[in-house]
Amino acid sequence: MSKEKISRRQFLRGAAAAAVAATASAVFPGVASAEGAVYKPGTYTAKAYGLWSDVTVTMTFDETSILDVVVDASGETEDIGGAAAPTLAQQILDAQSSEIDGVSGASSTSGAVRKAAAQCIAEAKGVDLAALTEDADDGELMTWQKKEKEKWAFEIAPDPIPDSEISEVITHDVIVIGAGMSGLCCAVSAQHFGADVMLFSASSIPYARGGSNHAIGSKYQKKLGVEYTPDTARKMVKVEQISGTYHMNKQTWANWVNNSAESMDFMIDVMEGQGLHVGLEAPYYDPDDIITTYPASHNFYSDTMPFGVFFGAPLCAQAYADHFTQHGGEIMYNVTAKQLVREDNNTGRVSAVIAQRQSDGAYIKFVANKAIVMATGDFSTNRDMMAKYSPWVYEHFKNKFTWETNYDNQFVYSGLMPGDGQRMGLWIGAAWQRTFPNPCAINGGAGGPAHAVISNFWGINLDINGRRFMNECTNFAYAGMAVLDLPEETAFAVWSQDYAYTEEVWDALGAVTDGGNGIKESTPEDMIASWDQSYKKADTLEELIDILYDGYSDEAKKTALESIANYTKYAKNGYDEEFQVNPEVLHPIENGPFYGTKTVGSTFLAVFGGLRTNDKCQVCDENDKPIEGLYNVGTMIGDFYSNSYNFVLPGQNLGACCCTLPYLVGKRLGQGEE
Ligand SMILES: Cc1cc2nc3c(=O)[nH]c(=O)nc-3n(C[C@H](O)[C@H](O)[C@H](O)COP(=O)(O)OP(=O)(O)OC[C@H]3O[C@@H](n4cnc5c(N)ncnc54)[C@H](O)[C@@H]3O)c2cc1C
Repeated sequence: MSKEKISRRQFLRGAAAAAVAATASAVFPGVASAEGAVYKPGTYTAKAYGLWSDVTVTMTFDETSILDVVVDASGETEDIGGAAAPTLAQQILDAQSSEIDGVSGASSTSGAVRKAAAQCIAEAKGVDLAALTEDADDGELMTWQKKEKEKWAFEIAPDPIPDSEISEVITHDVIVIGAGMSGLCCAVSAQHFGADVMLFSASSIPYARGGSNHAIGSKYQKKLGVEYTPDTARKMVKVEQISGTYHMNKQTWANWVNNSAESMDFMIDVMEGQGLHVGLEAPYYDPDDIITTYPASHNFYSDTMPFGVFFGAPLCAQAYADHFTQHGGEIMYNVTAKQLVREDNNTGRVSAVIAQRQSDGAYIKFVANKAIVMATGDFSTNRDMMAKYSPWVYEHFKNKFTWETNYDNQFVYSGLMPGDGQRMGLWIGAAWQRTFPNPCAINGGAGGPAHAVISNFWGINLDINGRRFMNECTNFAYAGMAVLDLPEETAFAVWSQDYAYTEEVWDALGAVTDGGNGIKESTPEDMIASWDQSYKKADTLEELIDILYDGYSDEAKKTALESIANYTKYAKNGYDEEFQVNPEVLHPIENGPFYGTKTVGSTFLAVFGGLRTNDKCQVCDENDKPIEGLYNVGTMIGDFYSNSYNFVLPGQNLGACCCTLPYLVGKRLGQGEE
C-alpha cells in the first residue's frame, strides 16, 4: 500500500465517512474491513503529550489486525498514568481501535494514548501524516501548521564567501565587532586584563546615544553617601524581575548586580582618565514605593558638554576608543561583518568573521585565536525581524520608521541597527532567545510637567473621549505604553498654575545631584515661565478644553470637563474613586490659569536581545550549549529583559549590558578564559 498524499480536510472527511459506515466500532482511522488487507504490516510508533511527559505507543500490525500494543508512560505519575499503561494497551488490542474507554483517574495519559494510537493506525493504513500538516485546502489562510513551518528570509544563510575572495587576513586573540558602548567597553577591558584584541566596526566613528548608566554601589555613589548596594537593591531587582514575569536570565542579572560596582569603578577611571566628569542623576520617587529608584544612573559630561544625560554616551564612546588606541589597540571603522566562520560544517568552534570594507568592497577575514565578541547592537531597523520578534511594537511603529540601514545611527527615535550580529549567529546554528516578544524601550506619556526625569505627568490624563484612563502616578515607560493602547494613540494632560507649587524644587533634565555640571533644578516660578512657553494656556477650563479638543465632539469636551471636576472632587476628598491615585499627589484643578497639552504616540528607543545567551555572554545553540569562541554583548544579549524595558532601573542597558557584562567578558578573556 503506497502512502497517498491527502489534505487534512480530505482526511477528516474520509475518517468521518468511515465512522458512519462502520457500525461495529468507532473507526479512527479504522479497523480491518472484511475485504482484505487494511494495514501495511509492521511496527509503528507515535508519541503524544500526557500529564507530565510524552507517552509513547508502539503497535504491531499484520494485514488485517492489530497484533501487539506497548504503551510507555514511564514519565507520567508512577502509580496513576504509569500504572495505567498495560491496561490501556490491552484496551486498544481488545477494541482493535484507538477509541478506547481509558482508565479513570488517568485521563491525560489515556488521552495521549488514544492520540498516539490513532497516529500509529493512520500510518499503518498508509496515510501520509506529513501531508496532514500541509493543509493544502487552506489556501491563503494562516494555520498553526503553516505557522510552525514558517521560515523568514533573514533566517536563510547566504552562500559562504569563498577563501578566493578574501583579500586580507588579520589575526588576533580577541576580535570585537562594533564600536558602540558595549564593544568598546569589552575591548578596553580585554586589553586591560592582558588580551591581544582588535575592534572593527561598520560605523564611521565610535559612538553611542543617551548617557544614563545604572550602577549599584560604585565608588562615586559611596562618596556621595548613597547606600545602594546589591543588598539594598534587592527590592528593586525583585520588582523588575516580577515585571518581566521572571522570564529573563536571573543568573546574568546576578552577574550584573554583583559586579556592577567593580565595572562602574573601572569605567569611571577610564572616563576620568580622558578628562570627563562623573555625575549621578536624581532618583525617582513613587509615592506608593513600588517603582521608586535610587540615585543610580551615572552620566559623564565634559567642560563643554554638561548635558551628560542625553549626550554623555557619545563622549564615553570616544573616550573608550581613545583609551584603547592610546594603549596600543587598533580600531578599523567602515568595515561591515558579513559572515561568521564556524569550523566542522557549523558544528565546531567559531574561528573567524569575514567582513567587507565599505570603501572598496574587499573582504577581510578576521581570525580570532580565542574569541569573537559581537557587539553589533539591536535589530530595530530590520523590518522582518521586528515583525517576527516584536510584533506589538512593530504594529505601532511600522509607519513611523524609515527601515533604512545606517550604521552611524545615533540619537534617533526611528530604529537603530539592522540585526547583523543576530542573523550571522542564526546562520551558524545559534538559537534565538527564549523570551518572546523581544522587549523594547518605549517612553512617553501624556506630556505635562514631570516630577522627575523618568516620570509621567501625575495630574489628570485624558483620552480623546474626555475620559481618564489609568492611575497617572507612574513612570514614563508605563505611561508611554498606555498611550499606545489608546484610541488614536492620543492623550491629553490638564493642570492649573497652582500645580507648580506642589514641589518646592523641580528636577531639571540634565541636572546631577551634586550640581557639578551647572544644570540647576527649577523653582515653581521657573516652571510657570517654561509652561507659558511650551503649553496651551487659558483662563477657564472650558476655554482650554475647547482649544485642546479642537476637532473632537462636544460630547468629548463635556466628558473632559466632567472628568476634571471629578478629579478635583477626589483631590479635595483625599480619595480617587476611579483609579486610587495616591492622595499625596492628587491636586485640585480649579484655579486658573490652566494649562494643557496633547500627546500623540510614544517614543521608541531600541529593541533588546536576540541570540540565546548564557550568563557568561556566550552565544548558545538550541540545546543551550555554548558555541565555542562566540560571545555577544550590549543590547543584543539574549534574554536579559522580558516583557518590556520599563526604566524602573534607569540606565540599565548602558549600565548592565554595555558596561558590567562586556567588562566581565573582557576580563575573563584577558585572564585566559576562552
Ligand atoms: C535616543 C536614545 C537614547 C538612549 N539613551 C540611553 C540611556 O541613557 N541609557 C541606557 O541605558 N540606554 C539608552 N539607550 C539604549 C541603548 O543603551 C543604547 O542604544 C546603546 O548605545 C546601545 O549600545 P550597543 O553597544 O549595544 O549598540 P550600538 O551602540 O548600536 O553599537 C553597535 C555597533 O555595531 C556596529 N555594527 C552594526 N552592525 C555591524 C556589522 N555588521 N559589522 C560591524 N559593525 C557593525 C555599529 O555601527 C555600532 O558601532 C538609548 C537609545 C536611544 C535610541
